[in-house]
Amino acid sequence: MSKSFIRHAQPGFRWEDVELLAYKAAGEAPFREVTRQLLFRADALGCELRYFEIAAKGHSTLERHQHAHAVMILRGRGACLVGGEVRAVGPHDLVSIEAWSWHQFRANAAEPLGFLCMVNAERDRPQLPTADDLAQLRQSREVAAFIRP
Ligand code: MN
Repeated sequence: MSKSFIRHAQPGFRWEDVELLAYKAAGEAPFREVTRQLLFRADALGCELRYFEIAAKGHSTLERHQHAHAVMILRGRGACLVGGEVRAVGPHDLVSIEAWSWHQFRANAAEPLGFLCMVNAERDRPQLPTADDLAQLRQSREVAAFIRP
């Protein structure tokens, strides 16, 4: 049985005893200027809660997978591709990313975009778009202008 605990917040969207990690291994997938913190791995819930921060002008990987994400923006403004649309997001907005939905987050030019992301502890590996997938995504002019494969 795991212990209950409190990890106090620290300045700069950091938490006690939580390591600042690379978003992904270098070369694993395309992205720009993203960090990751694993806040909880809650075995009783079967989930993890992570905090991602994308630096100004940065972006997460354009990907899809079987597992879902539940996201809450904590800081900054940006935009995301979700459900085939590009939507602006800001503090406390909620984003639900369902199975196999292409998704990507971008911070705006002026400030980092930080968000909580809840995910299954056991999950499949993300897929990157093939040339055919990209051609399909780019059928929407809005999506074509947004994505950074
Ligand atoms: Mn994902």
